[in-house]
Amino acid sequence: MAQANGRRTFLKQATLGAAIVGFDLASRSWVSEAAAAERADAIPHLDGELLTDAASLAAVAEDYGHIVTRTPQAVLRPGSVQDIVKMVKFARRHHIAVAARGQGHSTYGQPLVDAGFVIDMSTLSQICSIRPAYAVVEGGVRWIDLFQATLAQGRIPPVATDYIDLSVGGTLSVGGIGGASHKHGLQIDNVLELLVVTGEGKLVSCTPTRNAALFNAVLGGLGQFGIIVRATVKLVAAKASARTYLLSYDDIALFTADQQALIGDGRFDYVEGQIVAKAGGGWQYMIEAASFYSAPSTPNDTALLAGLSFNPGSQAIADVTYFDFLNRLAPTVAFLKSIGAWYLPHPWYDVFVPASQVNAYVGGIVASLTEADTGQGPVLIYPVKRAKFTKPFFRVPNEEVVFLFDILRTAATPEIAQQMVAANRALYEQVRALGGTRYAIGAIPLSQAEWAQHFGAAWPQFQQAKAMFDPDHILSPGQGIF
Ligand SMILES: Cc1cc2nc3c(=O)[nH]c(=O)nc-3n(C[C@H](O)[C@H](O)[C@H](O)COP(=O)(O)OP(=O)(O)OC[C@H]3O[C@@H](n4cnc5c(N)ncnc54)[C@H](O)[C@@H]3O)c2cc1C
Repeated sequence: MAQANGRRTFLKQATLGAAIVGFDLASRSWVSEAAAAERADAIPHLDGELLTDAASLAAVAEDYGHIVTRTPQAVLRPGSVQDIVKMVKFARRHHIAVAARGQGHSTYGQPLVDAGFVIDMSTLSQICSIRPAYAVVEGGVRWIDLFQATLAQGRIPPVATDYIDLSVGGTLSVGGIGGASHKHGLQIDNVLELLVVTGEGKLVSCTPTRNAALFNAVLGGLGQFGIIVRATVKLVAAKASARTYLLSYDDIALFTADQQALIGDGRFDYVEGQIVAKAGGGWQYMIEAASFYSAPSTPNDTALLAGLSFNPGSQAIADVTYFDFLNRLAPTVAFLKSIGAWYLPHPWYDVFVPASQVNAYVGGIVASLTEADTGQGPVLIYPVKRAKFTKPFFRVPNEEVVFLFDILRTAATPEIAQQMVAANRALYEQVRALGGTRYAIGAIPLSQAEWAQHFGAAWPQFQQAKAMFDPDHILSPGQGIF
C-alpha cells in the first residue's frame, strides 16, 4: 500500500537539461539544483546517466504498439551493471517503479512506466565472449548483433524469432518462439546462466542448478522478478545456407495436418505457416519450411516434400545464406518504415491454441476475416511441441501439440486500434474457453484476476517468486499483473 501511495504522489516535475543530483523526499521528484538537494536523498554515483529531459522521456513513453502512452519521470542509461544495482536499491527505498526496456517492441505498454524510471538497456550491449558451446552477452544486446558475431565463428543460438532486432533481455523475459521451436523449444529453454539484478537490488548469478528458483522465474517471467543484465546462451553449429519452401493449401485441415506431420518427423529445421490474402479475395494457408545446409551437401527436395498435400505446383523453393534467412524480415521492415506503417498502432493478437481446437477456432475466424481486420498485417499459425517448453511461467494449453496463432494487426488510426483491441479481447475469451492461452507480447487487456487464471497452477509459485525477488512490486508494472 505504501508503494501505491508513493506512486500516486510521485510528482511529474521533469527537470530539464541539468544533471540530476537527488530525489526530493517531500515532493517525490528528481532534483537537479544543489540547494534543493539538501532536502533530497542524493542519487548514487553513476557510471552512466539519469535523464529527465522531455526528449529522453518521450522516447520511452510508447512501445511498438503505440496504443498505450506512459511517460516516466526519468530514464537511466546505465554505464555499468552496478548502476542498475544502485538505482534499483534506490528505487526500492523510495517505492519508485522501474521498467527495463530492451528494444521496446512490445505492443501494449509492457515496457512502460508512468511514475518511475525506465532503464534503457541498449547501453548494456556488450558481447562479452563467444565459445563453441555458448555466448555470454549483456542484457541489452540485440539478437541480430549476436547472430552476426557467432556466425563469424560458425556457431548460432538454436532458436531465432522471426524479427531479430529484439534485445536478448526482452525476448528472454517473454519466451522467444520461432520456426525452430518445434525442435529446440523457446529461446528461454536455451539459456545456461543469467546474471540478474533482483527487485531487491541484489546481483545474483543463477543457473538451472544454482539459485534455480530465480533462474526459472526470470526466464519467461515478464520482467517481474529481476533485470537480466547478462545471459549465457547456448550455441550450436551453424550451417552456411537455408533452402526455403513455401507450400500453399486451400483447406485448413490439410494444412494443419501437414504442419503437424512435419514437426512430428522433424524433416525440416524450421516450420512455420501463414494465412495469406488471395488476390481475388478470401484466404489461403501457406506452410513456410526451411532446411539448413552447407555445400556440398544439399537438401533432397523430393524427400522433404514427400507425402504432403499442398496444392500441386504451388511450391516455391529458394536458397539464401543462413544470415539472410535469419534476417529475412529486413526488406519488409524497411518498406514498412518507408511508407510509415511501421510507426502506426499495432494491436497484435497472440495466443496458443490447443491442436484439437485449431481447425474449428482458426477456421471460424478466417471465415469472416477481412483485410480491414488485419490492417494488412500478417497472420501466423504454426505448431510446436509442449514437451519442449521447460519454464514454469510460459503458459501454453495442456495438449501435446499447441499452435501459435498471431493476427499481427496494423491500425490506421487510434480509433481503429481501440476497435482491434476490443476484437482481440473477444477472440481471447473464445480461445480461453477452449483451453487456449495468450502469448504475453500482444495487445489483450487482462485484469489481475485474469492474470492469475492465466498462470493457473503456476500462480502460487509466481506470487511466491514475486514476494521473494521483488517484494515491493517495483519491477515492470506495465504488464499489469500486480
Ligand atoms: C516485428 C516483430 C516481430 C516479432 N517476432 C517475434 C517472434 O517471431 N517470436 C517471438 O517470440 N516474439 C516476437 N516478437 C515479440 C518480441 O519477442 C517481444 O515483444 C519482446 O519482448 C521484444 O523484445 P524487446 O527487447 O523489444 O523488449 P521490450 O518490449 O523492451 O520489453 C518487453 C518486456 O520485457 C521487460 N524487459 C526488457 N528487457 C529486460 C531485461 N533485460 N530484463 C528483464 N526484463 C526486461 C520489459 O520491462 C517488458 O516487460 C516480435 C515483435 C515484433 C515487433
